Amino acid sequence: MESKTLERSRPEADEATVTSGPNATAAVPGRFGAYGGRYVPETLMAALHELDAAYAEAQQDPSFSKELADLLHHYAGRPTPLYFAARLTEMLGGARIYLKREDLLHTGAHKINNCLGQGLLARRMGKKRIIAETGAGQHGVATATVCALFGMECIIYMGEEDMRRQELNVFRMRLLGAEVRGVSSGSATLKDAINEAMRDWVTNVRTTHYLLGSVLGAHPYPTMVRDFHRVIGIEARRQILEAEGRLPSAVLACVGGGSNAIGAFFEFIPDKDVRLIGVEAGGRGQALGEHASRFQGGSPGVLQGTYSYVLQDDAGQISNTHSVSAGLDYASVGPEHAALHDSGRAEYVAASDADALNATLKIARTEGILPALESAHAIAEAIRIAPKMNRDDILLVNLSGRGDKDMGILTRELNLQGA
Ligand SMILES: *Cc1c(COP(=O)(O)O)cnc(C)c1O
Repeated sequence: MESKTLERSRPEADEATVTSGPNATAAVPGRFGAYGGRYVPETLMAALHELDAAYAEAQQDPSFSKELADLLHHYAGRPTPLYFAARLTEMLGGARIYLKREDLLHTGAHKINNCLGQGLLARRMGKKRIIAETGAGQHGVATATVCALFGMECIIYMGEEDMRRQELNVFRMRLLGAEVRGVSSGSATLKDAINEAMRDWVTNVRTTHYLLGSVLGAHPYPTMVRDFHRVIGIEARRQILEAEGRLPSAVLACVGGGSNAIGAFFEFIPDKDVRLIGVEAGGRGQALGEHASRFQGGSPGVLQGTYSYVLQDDAGQISNTHSVSAGLDYASVGPEHAALHDSGRAEYVAASDADALNATLKIARTEGILPALESAHAIAEAIRIAPKMNRDDILLVNLSGRGDKDMGILTRELNLQGA
């Protein structure tokens, strides 16, 4: 019964009524329009309130932001460059393409921004035990890294199927001192690892912080994780103004849970002339189960603590998902994206596995950059639209991570002999 509650339930009708409507965001913390909220077992409410209060207090404390800024700079490598992709631009013959180089951060992706923030917060709350979920292992590695840095106990839940697929990341986490716990229930992938992490949290809530890896889960996670990634857009907005003296025509980012995308988008939301384009995993087809495009094939529902777009069947059962990139392979999406989608402020499109693989090859060979397969989805959309745009248009693409982790998949998927 408990696992059922954790996995999925329909929102109470009265709650949905109270919180929908134009002023809902301002009126109800943790809501983005009708989306977001806190759909968790009673036993976790105290922990969420405690986290909420600690985060609010930390935000008021200049020493917290200073320490985080120092770590982001000296440890993680911020600010990341905004790089003009001249050869790619020339090849496509349209909009000027800039890449925000989150792939150059320590541990190879944007995830370290959030892990450092939550790690500092956990320390402030006196929690010495950290748990996290991981799919491909990237969030697990970033979490294990921060736990090593802060001298904290680290337990990572990971589906056994994912452990097989991502052996190298399992080894990385163990090397960093983390305990990796395999999860064999369900499909033995990310969704099941999250259920297991939530069960652990219920049991050990006094000593333990759950370091959630994207803008998902119950309030305050979607807001807090977004805030830790806002630095991406803050830097990028300043950098593009320095480089071009004007704002981009569009900001593009891939959307798994949606943390790198919301981090890149957020500062540009008030700039109505800047299009915000989120790129989901189109996988290998449009049938349910063949992709992870929540905004193409999904509908509103609750999964793992939050109300958002969910890929589900007619009975409300969560459907399987597929993507060549594990980081985009999840049945739900951050609730703030659901609100941005419904209001029309952001657009969401899908790039297929094949598009992402082609984009990987293209950017490797024109720019000498091996992108993460997740990031390659955003690049694929840029490659698709740039030629139709004017030469004075600007596309700002968030390159969320580097591709080293994907060499195994790329070797299997691409036949490069003599290519
Ligand atoms: C995890 C990951 C993603 C997907 O997560 P978001 O929360 O959607 O950003 C995208 N890119 C890379 C490189 C990742 O590691």
